[in-house]
Amino acid sequence: MVVERTDPGSSPEPCATAERFLQMVMVCPDAFLEVSDAGVVTEWNPRAEELFGWRRDEVVGHPIVETLVPPGLGDSPLRHSGREGRLRFELAHRAGHRVAAEGLLFITGDGSDRGIGTFLYGLDNAVDPIEGLSDAYRYDPLTGLPNRELFGCQLSCVVARTQGVAGSVAVVLLDLDRFKAINNTMGHDAGDRILVSVADRLRRVAGDAELVARFGGDEFLALFQTASGTAQQKAADFIERMRAAMTEPFDVEGSEVFLDASFGVALNTFGVDAAGSLLSNAEAAMYQAKRRGGSSVETFGEAMRLELLDRMATEHSLHRALERSELMLHYQPVVEIDGITTVGVEALIRWQHPDQGLVSPYRFIPVAEESGLIIPIGAWVLEEACHQLRDWHHQGPTGPQGSVEVNLSARQIDNPQIVRTVEEILSRTGLPPEHLTLEITESALMKDAGSALQVLRALKEIGVLLAIDDFGTGYSSLSYLQRFPLDVLKVDRSFVEELGVSSEGEKIVSAVIKLAHALGLKVVAEGVETTQQLEVLRSLECDYAQGFLFSRPVPAADLIAAFGLQMSA
Ligand code: C2E
Ligand code: MG
Ligand code: MG
Repeated sequence: MVVERTDPGSSPEPCATAERFLQMVMVCPDAFLEVSDAGVVTEWNPRAEELFGWRRDEVVGHPIVETLVPPGLGDSPLRHSGREGRLRFELAHRAGHRVAAEGLLFITGDGSDRGIGTFLYGLDNAVDPIEGLSDAYRYDPLTGLPNRELFGCQLSCVVARTQGVAGSVAVVLLDLDRFKAINNTMGHDAGDRILVSVADRLRRVAGDAELVARFGGDEFLALFQTASGTAQQKAADFIERMRAAMTEPFDVEGSEVFLDASFGVALNTFGVDAAGSLLSNAEAAMYQAKRRGGSSVETFGEAMRLELLDRMATEHSLHRALERSELMLHYQPVVEIDGITTVGVEALIRWQHPDQGLVSPYRFIPVAEESGLIIPIGAWVLEEACHQLRDWHHQGPTGPQGSVEVNLSARQIDNPQIVRTVEEILSRTGLPPEHLTLEITESALMKDAGSALQVLRALKEIGVLLAIDDFGTGYSSLSYLQRFPLDVLKVDRSFVEELGVSSEGEKIVSAVIKLAHALGLKVVAEGVETTQQLEVLRSLECDYAQGFLFSRPVPAADLIAAFGLQMSA
């Protein structure tokens, strides 16, 4: 069937004409498909449903690449072609095979309404399965967004199409901040509702994104493409809209929840033109945004690539550091506020790198956390520290007594296995549990407040003591402080530094100490370097102090030799 293009000027009633045209399309024995210039399906008739299996509501209003021209099928002849005339092409059947079709293409509408329509018929019953498209409908059931497979395929398609033009493709990866904590504290139904709402907001602000998709969990993706190299700008505009949309509270069971997100952006530059690298670069950028404390945007670039390489090299050699005994512990005394009696030691890890010398934990602990290596490394630290203290105890009253403080990372308390690990180590080394204090930073606690609480309670039952480390640097949620079964609060060095310098600093430390005491916690001041600081702390009734004033962290052997420490039991 041939349709003549109607001359808009010749019709006195264009609306009536459009309506009649639509009626005709609906009863036409040929399949009819119309796609807007933006690639969204605008018409689809019953015969088309029969021929290709897709229901009208599944295709109309959606990008054609989500259904009829899935990634892997090649580019849509209906998109960006602007061609009229007879054409053969293939479309995807809903059941996952190709259907070869032939149709007459013609331009429909004009201006913003411009699109391309085609009456088409199936050529044969071609049933070539489309690669990897066994379940034709690749959508996330919760949010209704395309899922990661569909996104990946579409990305390959877009990358292939725009090869060579740097900056013409941008991938944005969005990850919600603190979502896990909300999921754990408010329940999974609440979490699901938030995800659905985030998906709605994404759709709302998507603009001319090629595709928005759910990557999995609380991660979402958006894909941008431009003929020129301006995809980065499009991505930036989108992120701005999305961040604005995220400032609206989420309604969860009548209460308002505020959530933020971290964004990672990757562009097809720097010789990156494979879909896989674009995705992993977007991920790396997103993790970088998280590392910066969340609620921020990072774009993958040369500096980040080098940093990533450095982290990979660190991770690589860290793998063997344990086996090669390159890791060791230094100990720093914790003293009574009198500045004389040592009550315990904090175990601090050191890495004697074969080429780089002594590597700071600030550099390799984050790498160990990210790679999961912190689990075996952390277990080693615990065992080594408990052994050392047991040895000192065995030396009798002449050796250091007291307790040992071991740092645990977020990743360690995220894993309920830690409870067994601690129990086993205590029984192997024979150290009484009350001589072990586990330190957890404030930010690690807040990261995953829900499950951390359970793990801490279980640890508490074993009889070990719990300390909150670096207090004042994290979110400082005072209500959480009350909920966790803590024994000790360590005031961060940055506050101690202010003592004797500003009266504000003194007020803060004073308030923290009072609060901690009201909650029944003992207070350790970290990073005490001057006698003046010690005196102020004493006047504020701080319980213990730790810092270079008394001793730097030193190897176990030096601890006794250099300071002749007498630890109180
Ligand atoms: P942290 O637990 O807050 O340990 C205190 C840090 O402050 C130590 O740095 C210590 O050397 C330093 N310090 C102590 N007194 C003073 C002082 O008077 N002035 C100054 N400027 N610094 C002082 P270090 O040993 O480099 O450790 C850094 C961080 O690495 C630790 O902070 C802790 O969060 C982490 N860390 C260390 N060992 C382990 C470990 O075995 N496991 C885990 N997960 N983290 C560890
Ligand atoms: Mg510590
Ligand atoms: Mg600390």
